[in-house]
Amino acid sequence: MKIFIDGEFYPEAEAKISVFDHGLLYGDGVFEGIRAYNNRVFKLSEHIDRLYDSAKAILLEIPYTKEELSEAVVETCRQNGMKNGYVRLVITRGPGYLGLSPDRCKKPTVIIIAALLELYPKEFYENGLAVITAPTTRTNPAALNPAIKSLNYLNNIMAKVEGSLAGVHEVIMLNSEGLVAECSGDNIFVIKNGVMRTPPIYMGALGGITRQTIVDLADQIGVPFQEQPMTRYDLFVSDEMFLTGTGAEVIPVVKVDGRSIGDGSVGEKTKQFMTAYSELTQTDGPVILSE
Ligand code: PMP
Repeated sequence: MKIFIDGEFYPEAEAKISVFDHGLLYGDGVFEGIRAYNNRVFKLSEHIDRLYDSAKAILLEIPYTKEELSEAVVETCRQNGMKNGYVRLVITRGPGYLGLSPDRCKKPTVIIIAALLELYPKEFYENGLAVITAPTTRTNPAALNPAIKSLNYLNNIMAKVEGSLAGVHEVIMLNSEGLVAECSGDNIFVIKNGVMRTPPIYMGALGGITRQTIVDLADQIGVPFQEQPMTRYDLFVSDEMFLTGTGAEVIPVVKVDGRSIGDGSVGEKTKQFMTAYSELTQTDGPVILSE
């Protein structure tokens, strides 16, 4: 595997960064998780735009133009001969010294890793996931806004661990008001009486690229859509539920906190979104290897 660090490609064993990098010391940085399908980098420009927004929000200046960084992502796939897989793009504050202030971090570190990804087992796409509400709430946007895809993922990790301890693969996270925000690494949608809903980003969610793709597909599928604050009650009484994320794609949920969603089977509209999404993945984004 060849890994991009600051403009050079390194074999995996030699891909190293400083122990004084504030990405490591403080989780000070931003990242993206991107997929390649069918020799194309899916939704690349959307991921690049979100990365630059995350960086801007934390006053981190990315030392490349969007065009240069996009090309570096495609080139990393090319160097690894990867036509289908996962790309992790990481920008850290860079090496500085001990101490919180990024003043002495003169040069952000740019890392691009192209690798294969472990998805949820196939049976969950066929039969649906069971999830729980995590005891840990999502970070308050006034403290650290979940809309920023920062390297500071401890909040999500703790919730994910709580899920694992309870025997589930994903967890729903509430905000500090007790309203539904998102999941540890996915956004959440419900369908009730034919209307699709997801919580607004200001509830404490990441503006998911997959979330937006599903909203864009709603017209085509013929499902009215609303962003709406939700309580756990709204989840329990929904007819269908699914989660969205770059890694998970669209995954059905059939149980929340022990309550069956709808009749406990994967929803019909959910299946349509799964199919429409997987079709779209085959045709979007810049080509990796010209044939
Ligand atoms: N929420 C969180 C907390 C995430 O980390 C992610 C990405 N894994 C998502 C939602 C989904 O976002 P996207 O569709 O852009 O992958």
